[in-house]
Amino acid sequence: MKSSSGVPFLIREVHGDEIVLTPRNHKLPARARRTGYSLDSMQQAVNKDAQKPPVSDGRLTLNKVLDWLVEDKLVEAAAAEQLKKERRYYRGALHPLVTVADQKWKQAAPPHRALGIEFLSEWLAKRVGMDYLHIDPLKIDFSAVTEVMSSAYATRFRILPVGVTSKEATIATAEPYSREWEKELAPIIKREIRLVFANPQDIERYQVEFYNLAKSIKGAAKKHGTSGLSNFEQLVELGAENKQFDANDAHIVRIVDWLWQYAFEQRASDIHVEPRREQGIVRFRIDGVLHQVYQIPPHVLTAMTSRIKILARMDVVEKRRPQDGRIKTRTADGEEIELRLSTLPTAFGEKLVMRIFDPEVLVRDFKELGFSDDDKKRWDDMTQKPNGIVLVTGPTGSGKTTTLYSTLKTLATPEVNVCTIEDPIEMVEVSFNQMQVQHQIDLGFAEGVRALMRQDPDIIMVGEIRDLETAEMAVQSALTGHLVLSTLHTNDAPSAVTRLLELGVPSYLLNATMNGIMAQRLVRTLCKHCKQKIDFNRQEDHDAWDALVAPWKSNRPAHVYKAVGCLECRMTGFQGRVGIYELLLFSSELKSQVAGNADLAKLRDTGFKEGMKPLRISGAMKVAAGLTTIEEVLKVAPPIRDTHTPAK
Ligand SMILES: [Zn+2]
Repeated sequence: MKSSSGVPFLIREVHGDEIVLTPRNHKLPARARRTGYSLDSMQQAVNKDAQKPPVSDGRLTLNKVLDWLVEDKLVEAAAAEQLKKERRYYRGALHPLVTVADQKWKQAAPPHRALGIEFLSEWLAKRVGMDYLHIDPLKIDFSAVTEVMSSAYATRFRILPVGVTSKEATIATAEPYSREWEKELAPIIKREIRLVFANPQDIERYQVEFYNLAKSIKGAAKKHGTSGLSNFEQLVELGAENKQFDANDAHIVRIVDWLWQYAFEQRASDIHVEPRREQGIVRFRIDGVLHQVYQIPPHVLTAMTSRIKILARMDVVEKRRPQDGRIKTRTADGEEIELRLSTLPTAFGEKLVMRIFDPEVLVRDFKELGFSDDDKKRWDDMTQKPNGIVLVTGPTGSGKTTTLYSTLKTLATPEVNVCTIEDPIEMVEVSFNQMQVQHQIDLGFAEGVRALMRQDPDIIMVGEIRDLETAEMAVQSALTGHLVLSTLHTNDAPSAVTRLLELGVPSYLLNATMNGIMAQRLVRTLCKHCKQKIDFNRQEDHDAWDALVAPWKSNRPAHVYKAVGCLECRMTGFQGRVGIYELLLFSSELKSQVAGNADLAKLRDTGFKEGMKPLRISGAMKVAAGLTTIEEVLKVAPPIRDTHTPAK
């Protein structure tokens, strides 16, 4: 769903089965801002165009479109004439906009934007006075819309149903003057028809995909019956003999392939396949936020789950016990992707979550991870020592694994032995020796480290320190000359010290082994295609900034950026995430306080005095740099607490 175009006209919201077209960009002319299309306004739109050069009732011609492009100063007259001449005898079915987009022209006048298909579609929609719709397949209930007309009908008139309510059907077209079907269809479907303009390439693509997919779901539903045997009461009956679903059914295979393809295209990090009472639902997590994308009949959902479990070599029959597994697959572009699966029995059946690991994403450059020069220097201070403990803290999903993998990768030279004990192994990296925790055979983190110690390691990564036993093993390894990297679930860096003391690690051992602690969070980054620079000088801006950095004082930036939303970022205004960091070095001053049983506030205070920037300040710097927003930072970073005298 990549497109070069940046200006959204409409987003579609789904409220139950109601579909609402809402304007997104408030700078649009009144005509485009109108929500919804009545037949009256359609008529006006057509009448208005009647004053323009007359257009025959029928498909758009290339000549006409080129004339308009020249009129609107998008294309030079000479180039248009040249193309007209070349295509004089062309009798194919290519839409004129596709032909123009194929020229890869740039706007004749500044700002010389590329005339891509999405840009041209938006332009033409405005030109003919229609609402423009970017078709987002994740937001369309294809089972419902494909009921509006047959596939053959849609193909014949080059139209695509994209929304349907009890009163109205929304139909996308790229042929504003080819409308003979409208009169015919409205009485049959007993609904008003609301016409929107969409990219002709999308219409063609989704005509095939929506109908195929709807057919698959219907086919699968018919085959597997609608017995509704998916809720809790039935769970106990499902035994080894139960062969209710054919997971290799071609329909199910197609639906699963389609699901993955879309998840990859949308940069989803997790796919949730969830049985519910009436409908199964599929949700994608994109940049940390869940989006519901499909509703699927429960029995079809169960068959999908079975298919995926078979591919992951999980026990298909066992539905009462949580299981995990993994699948390696490739995207359409041949990129390798690993999926980690876990199932959970819920009241309505088996819930499946697939976490998507893109190896490219797991190991990243420190700049990409969001390390400032100062962060990087402090991090190197901790990790480039031959021995000692380095901890990364933060909640699940704060990017700790990516940081550790990326660091280990830089440390793993042929001269050193890097070993890991993980739960589970998130990414297989050839330069590490990785071992997975296996509770059923009593191989926990502590046992793992013990075993690794006999393997002549130099650097050890322990997935997580959860108990005293693991903490003691980490300390032992560090004392015997190894570098140990691990994670801990605490809110900020200084809390990790008190957590370890609480677990029972003696302060003198902590002081003897700890190199440093880093707390981290991920904030969503503003989409670089649509973010908007805004002045930052109103009183409320000042208050927001001061609240963010309180109780510290920090110079306010003159400008910040706000989220807008475009096709590149699925209208969210954000694309990707970046880390914010708080790095606590174990200085001699800090050690003396640890030995003296100093409280958390005092440790924090010392950290600040010695240059540790709290997470919110680290986030504020990203806001000032135009990478994210104050709200994003506030969402993930805890307040700066318990400081006695904040440093400057
Ligand atoms: Zn954007």
